[in-house]
Amino acid sequence: MARGNIFVVTAPSGAGKTTLVAALLAADQNVQLSISFTTRAPRGGEVHGKDYHFIDRAGFEAMIAAHDLLEYAEVYGNYYGTSRQWIESVIDNGRDILLEIDWQGAQQVKRIFSDSVGIFVLPPSIDTLEQRLRSRGKDSEEVIAKRMAAAREEMSHFDEADYVVVNEHIDEAVRDIVAVVRAERLRQRTQRIRHGALLGSLKG
Ligand code: 5GP
Repeated sequence: MARGNIFVVTAPSGAGKTTLVAALLAADQNVQLSISFTTRAPRGGEVHGKDYHFIDRAGFEAMIAAHDLLEYAEVYGNYYGTSRQWIESVIDNGRDILLEIDWQGAQQVKRIFSDSVGIFVLPPSIDTLEQRLRSRGKDSEEVIAKRMAAAREEMSHFDEADYVVVNEHIDEAVRDIVAVVRAERLRQRTQRIRHGALLGSLKG
């Protein structure tokens, strides 16, 4: 059996990543979303085990010490990380995984799994991103400026990804990300395993 693919989706906040990922998961039943561990407090409506596994700092540090995390990073003063065991068991069963993580985590995953597939989601322009962040609520100028600075820092890592999806029109961006997932499954090394009899017979 071919091992599953690991897709790593990275984006600044305001690029529409969550909507895009939800649409991909609805369109493709063979992709499973990794639920990260975090020390951040749940936001309104977030569900333990669905949005994140919420744990305290001591629990997270114990996971680091036990090498239970494939990757982890500190983002805005909170820890976020991905369970190593879960990832390995899913890909070993031939299923694809999607990680929604920051650039620091994406770098770590790439170092461990060089054939993981990095997808960077960008807004069509910096102005559009700022408008999207402003339209979210009544945040102060200071908060908006901080978010924009964090977004720019995240976006400067776009060139570490294998694919770049620009989310100007959500329908088109969904088609783009679905296309990336489908194309990766057609890689020759994967097809050699999936269609071993056919491809083997062609090499005499
Ligand atoms: P939020 O707190 O808004 O849900 O996420 C904050 C940031 O942490 C986002 O950039 C998100 O992609 C990132 N993040 C979420 N889970 C993980 C994870 O498991 N590992 C890493 N490295 N980053 C994560």
